[in-house]
Amino acid sequence: AKKEGRSSTHYFNEVINQSMKKRVALENYLRLAVGNSELIPYFQPIIKIDNDVESVCGAEALLRWFHPSLGNISPAEFIPLAEETGQTLDIGEWLIEEICRIYGEWLKKGSVNLDYVSINLSVLQLQQKDFHKTILESLKRHEVPPSAVVLEITENVLVGNFDRVNSNISALRSEGIRFAIDDFGTGYSSLTYLKKLSLDIIKIDRTFIREIHDDRGDKTLVQAILNIARDFGFNVIAEGVEEEMQIGIMKELGCRFIQGYYFSRPLPADRFLEFYERFTT
Ligand code: C2E
Ligand code: CA
Ligand code: CA
Ligand code: CA
Repeated sequence: AKKEGRSSTHYFNEVINQSMKKRVALENYLRLAVGNSELIPYFQPIIKIDNDVESVCGAEALLRWFHPSLGNISPAEFIPLAEETGQTLDIGEWLIEEICRIYGEWLKKGSVNLDYVSINLSVLQLQQKDFHKTILESLKRHEVPPSAVVLEITENVLVGNFDRVNSNISALRSEGIRFAIDDFGTGYSSLTYLKKLSLDIIKIDRTFIREIHDDRGDKTLVQAILNIARDFGFNVIAEGVEEEMQIGIMKELGCRFIQGYYFSRPLPADRFLEFYERFTT
């Protein structure tokens, strides 16, 4: 038994060892990813439903990492890693510039007429003293009006240096940039946000949408969120809509903005434009 114990400890250590090695390798690969052009923003359409007329009103930029030997690595894996290692600052700055470049080109060519493109932020970015300047410079450089951009934040902005976060948000909002609260309903303090932060859009997390067609509780919750949002004057986007039945319920509840695989997965820039054209004409 003793021998067995030792070998299972050995096995356990080996597993930890392997996963740490993998992590360090991934971390090092990620440092090279921007320079090697392995990171690419994709765009997922956000659809507005107005009296049964559907239009593409926006797009959420979602980062993709294609590594030459490891293949496609999910943001669920590399974004948290980038956060923990602080790489999220460099990647985030590059990404904002890249999205502004692409969006600026669309606007110049008249390829799209969107209300906004939205960009996911890490709390680390909002804690940087001059973050608002960085983003405003990128917008200016590519002639993207601040009013055509939405920044998505999650409730972890409420922890840490909240004053810094708030002053960045105020500075950006005063320039016309809008803010969305992402994954709404999943955290502990969702309602606190609404009071503490100046926001424009609520994105209802897809866990509430997934079973909305056969879970009365979820439907009641979504209804409640919509009521609160109406009173605060926020627009609401339902995330993760995959089924026609869910669309029907969102219409019934009066939720006019929909994002999800039902309409489209996130697409590379050129394919997003194709989708836009097909949808619009
Ligand atoms: P998120 O911001 O909540 O993004 C929505 C996620 O839901 C995306 O996953 C999207 O592909 C997925 N999704 C959209 N519609 C559906 C649907 O109908 N069904 C299902 N099952 N999923 C759907 P993705 O692209 O894998 O990103 C995962 C998370 O990684 C994002 O969640 C976001 O937190 C983070 N992330 C992605 N790109 C960035 C980025 O550029 N910066 C930062 N800071 N985080 C990012
Ligand atoms: Ca998001
Ligand atoms: Ca979300
Ligand atoms: Ca999420």
